Amino acid sequence: MNSSGKSKGEIAAKGFDPVTRAEEVAKIVSREDQRKYYRFRSARFYGGIATADCVGCCLQCLFCWSWPQVVKPDRFGHFYSPHDVAGRLGAILRKKQFRRVRVSGNEPTVAWHHLVKVIELLRKCRFLPKPATHS
Ligand code: SF4
Repeated sequence: MNSSGKSKGEIAAKGFDPVTRAEEVAKIVSREDQRKYYRFRSARFYGGIATADCVGCCLQCLFCWSWPQVVKPDRFGHFYSPHDVAGRLGAILRKKQFRRVRVSGNEPTVAWHHLVKVIELLRKCRFLPKPATHS
């Protein structure tokens, strides 16, 4: 069950248009060049990777591991600029001696222009960005 009282199965059975949902979610989780994120962390995957967990997705998969952020994107996270995100990921890279970064959590491409700016900033620093799309 989610906070609206509906189970994942009930939401899936109702169906939805993912393109329309992407547009609706983008209005909630992005403003100007900023996007909402709910966590920045180091992870052991891929040999060690700095991870920014974004808020908002255009799908509603039954096996989703970050369901609360998917169904209630307005209730989670804070807005960060591309510079903020790149800076936080860079700090994790330096601290952990990692070479890779990713945007995960929900769907990175929902805020496309923000994502492109984050990748451009990271590539200038010679890091290896990995948008974990529909993770
Ligand atoms: S694409 Fe990923 S974040 Fe989106 S609903 Fe599916 S599992 Fe959850």
